[in-house]
Amino acid sequence: PRRIVVVGAGLAATQTVGALRERGFDGHLTVLGAEPVPPYDRPPLSKHLLDRPEPTLLSHELGVDVQSLADEVHLGRPATGLTVSPAGVEIEAGATIGADVAIIATGARARRVPGWEHALVLHTAADAAALRARLTPGARLAVIGAGWIGAEVAGVAAAAGVEVTVLEAASAPLSGALGAQVGALAAPWFAAGGVRLVTDARVTRVDEDAVHLADGERVAADVVLAAVGALPATAWLGDALPREPDGSLLVDEGYAVLGAPRRVRAVGDVARRRSHRHGWVPGGHWDGALRGPVDLAADLLTGLESQPTDPVPYVFSTQLGHDLTLFGLPEPGHDVVLRGDASSSEGWSALWFRPGSSTLAAVLTVDRPRDVGAARRLFAARDLPRLDRDLAGDVGVPLR
Ligand code: FAD
Repeated sequence: PRRIVVVGAGLAATQTVGALRERGFDGHLTVLGAEPVPPYDRPPLSKHLLDRPEPTLLSHELGVDVQSLADEVHLGRPATGLTVSPAGVEIEAGATIGADVAIIATGARARRVPGWEHALVLHTAADAAALRARLTPGARLAVIGAGWIGAEVAGVAAAAGVEVTVLEAASAPLSGALGAQVGALAAPWFAAGGVRLVTDARVTRVDEDAVHLADGERVAADVVLAAVGALPATAWLGDALPREPDGSLLVDEGYAVLGAPRRVRAVGDVARRRSHRHGWVPGGHWDGALRGPVDLAADLLTGLESQPTDPVPYVFSTQLGHDLTLFGLPEPGHDVVLRGDASSSEGWSALWFRPGSSTLAAVLTVDRPRDVGAARRLFAARDLPRLDRDLAGDVGVPLR
């Protein structure tokens, strides 16, 4: 290709630009970003919500400076449409930008629930600034959703003297990601961190000064944060590409969008990637946006000469004083084996096995750095690892 346009100016876009140049692409590169800010990192928005008011720029964090590597970078200029023709692609963004290849890296947007207009969300640097301004010591914060981001914000806000209540619809925190059995092990962290956690909470109304629950409780709040997930930001594509019901774009190992010419690629939170080891891997996590662009650039410029790297799905989180890493994809039907005691200061891990089998599908580590390297290594091979469940559950035996 001679002209490539990258849509979105976040982590996946930044890494794509870096990987293309590293692979020797010397054609014309255009980057479009909806936000007026240079590419920045999102995890600090929650983890450092109160102690880092400026966005953490990726040029600094990763040493990849899109503004010097691309020929044109347009910030504050959202794309509004894509046309794929036999000759190439055209992106609408105020004007029409023609290219040989379009790379869609527009990330995700916070899920908003109709009727919850009084609730803030946390997805962008602007969202973080708005939330930060309201979280003064003594303020009452109600967080709807005890997922990764809700739990992180609850922890940092409580530590700064904010009175925090977390309202979770499921029976345990983190149950969307980890299931209720493992999620329940995180429930005591909330009280220990000075946060009130209400599970099985059905929110019926969000007012300016309170959240109402189905059981009649009124949770008074000066600030309400809705942290109920994110969805791929692909509405701007309209009917130009086939999209899944959640808005994601199915991609192959080289991040080519299925059902479209191979000159259309998608990477990062927008993409649901085909993995030999894990099946369809949804976006939504930092590591996928960091690593995906490497295979994308290799495939686009030279064809994947070797196997695609097929990175293991990996999430990290720091919440209420605990460090979590999750490798692989836990599923509701899996069998869970615990490794260690959840109340021990040595940390613990959880392992998810395919039902009735020795095939390991996912590993969570909690405050247990010694299992992190082992977990990553287990998922380095082409196929899912097989493990003796009894040995794996024995903390006295190294994980391997
Ligand atoms: P993004 O970083 O969202 O970048 C996409 C960019 O595209 C955005 O800047 C957006 O403005 C722009 N855009 C959108 N629409 C258009 C358009 N039409 N035209 C042009 N530009 C457009 N992951 C973890 O694994 N661990 C964590 O601890 C963690 N913490 C997080 C905390 C917060 C508060 C948030 C919001 C996310 C967190 N994540 C975490 C998720 C992680 O940040 C994302 O997976 C990652 O940023 C995805 O990168 P991306 O480039 O695909 O999308």
